[in-house]
Amino acid sequence: MTATTNALGTIPDTASVAAPRLSTAGYKEVPPERATRDAIRAAAEAYCRTVDRSKPLTKESTRAMAEAVLRQLGLSERYLGFTMVMITNAFWRDQVAAVPFHRRLMLLPHCLKNAEGCPADYDEFGLNCQKCGACHVGDFRTKAEQLGYKVLISEGTPIVLKIIVSGHVDAIVGVACLNVLEKAFDKVLVAGIPCLATPLLSSNCKNTSVDNDWVFETMGVHTPPPTQQTRTYVHLMRAANALFEEAELLRLVAPPRRGTLPLAEALQHPDPLIRQEAIALDFLARGGKRSRPFITLAAYDALRGAPATRQADGWELSDAVKRTALAIETFHKASLVHDDIEDDDAYRYGQETLHRAYGLGPAINVGDYLIGLGYRLVSRERAVLGAETTADLLDKLAEAHTRLSEGQGAELFWRQAPQALSTLDVLKIYALKTAPAFEAALYCGIRLAGPAAHLEKPLADFARHLGVAFQILNDIHDWRGDDHNKLVAGQDVFAGRPTLLLAFALETLPPAQRGELLELLDHGHPSRSTPVPDPNDTDRLQRVRNLYFAADVFAKADKLVDKFRAKAEAIADEIQPDELRELLYYLVDTVLEKGELPQPSPLDVLPLTLRS
Ligand code: SF4
Repeated sequence: MTATTNALGTIPDTASVAAPRLSTAGYKEVPPERATRDAIRAAAEAYCRTVDRSKPLTKESTRAMAEAVLRQLGLSERYLGFTMVMITNAFWRDQVAAVPFHRRLMLLPHCLKNAEGCPADYDEFGLNCQKCGACHVGDFRTKAEQLGYKVLISEGTPIVLKIIVSGHVDAIVGVACLNVLEKAFDKVLVAGIPCLATPLLSSNCKNTSVDNDWVFETMGVHTPPPTQQTRTYVHLMRAANALFEEAELLRLVAPPRRGTLPLAEALQHPDPLIRQEAIALDFLARGGKRSRPFITLAAYDALRGAPATRQADGWELSDAVKRTALAIETFHKASLVHDDIEDDDAYRYGQETLHRAYGLGPAINVGDYLIGLGYRLVSRERAVLGAETTADLLDKLAEAHTRLSEGQGAELFWRQAPQALSTLDVLKIYALKTAPAFEAALYCGIRLAGPAAHLEKPLADFARHLGVAFQILNDIHDWRGDDHNKLVAGQDVFAGRPTLLLAFALETLPPAQRGELLELLDHGHPSRSTPVPDPNDTDRLQRVRNLYFAADVFAKADKLVDKFRAKAEAIADEIQPDELRELLYYLVDTVLEKGELPQPSPLDVLPLTLRS
């Protein structure tokens, strides 16, 4: 762990801080007096003059700095969230200022609009402001567009990350409430994306306000590049994303059937051989965060001194490296096709699943094709990689493939006998189902860079802890639903999945309630009394939810996420070289992004008997 010392004390300044995820919940007040806001901003700028800018700030170090600033000013911790934003602004200001205006995104919140009279409609990019003059959104948009900014009036980190990774902009200047800014921290700032934010003066989502002069001033910053650049994963995210652009994907895969046909045409082709190949490649190119190929590229880069985190060009990835990263995603996509069939899911990436769109047989076959394609992408690079490296890569991929199938198989068999489930059973399934993909992605990256035997065991352990924590978080997220995939909350219950939440409940509840829970699960099991589970069966869902709250499963699962996170971080602490260790910290921060825990509604706290 390294640290920076200045007049205000010693603070950790790298990602090497193994501590539970910090939250600023409860510390998110904006100072009501403008003089206080100005004082905090000035103190944060003074504080940041001495900070090492070679690596992105972590949430922990930002919080430590913000606490020091508040102590110096004698102000309350209530302003911690606001002060953290002022610290990150001071950190990134020069780097945002060096980005040409036309390469910046201005992100405005729609809650700034005049809620009563706004004539603007929403489209796929957010609010389409008509600049009617009734609120400052129009003024901000006009000024930003005059300067050359791309402007988005929307909210949500995923779309921002997508725009950055697609390569259209290099920096973000935004206005948002402290809640939104806190969420953005783990996704955007730790990735090394230059950002400046002006906090809204309230977080009440309607007719909000902001320090207008700050927004105009921040928008206009423009200076030559600073001498010290902060490391960033954006270039590698873009490289992973570029693998799936049609021309590059088809070049790397070199599919034998479609000839020179564009994918869209090949999908409609009367020749079933061409159509089958096109369906597989189209699904490979679809959606997803490309996080697995990113991990492979970033691990490879880290073992070579991380040149791609320092500059946008001057480094290269060979086709052998690209094809291996692509293979990782190919296996992942194959498993999704088969998962969707096993769960009879209706949507994937916002579109119909393959078995719903093309039928069961063709979908199973597409999954099989993708598995074969994944192995072929690597094996055909043996002339470049050498026989030993190729064999090691294929062995790790085969190992990941078989372990994943074991975990999935265990889960499917459990669904036929849901009574016998302990938390240990679930954790075993999670370690098999999720961790091998992380492990294979990391291993392939380091093995492509050279011999990797010394890192194999620690990385396998790291991936296991990360994968298990990720899967538990998924269990919790399932109770919040997911608009993008058109999922409804509690889908795991309807699908009869063995989750950790269920295991906790079965272990904790008294016999009568345990029996009730099993009966509720049995009722919805696809192979039993209800052939197609009804996702609108809100009564049954409410009863399961109530039993889960009675067993306190969400808090228990949350604690376990922290425990596995700490284990992953403890392994990362010992990893050399530094660049690989920092990548592991980054993965922990981004993969294990926590949201709010489900909270009991008045219905959840009613006595159980009243709702049975
Ligand atoms: S300026 Fe734009 S956002 Fe504001 S009220 Fe008019 S149309 Fe709506």
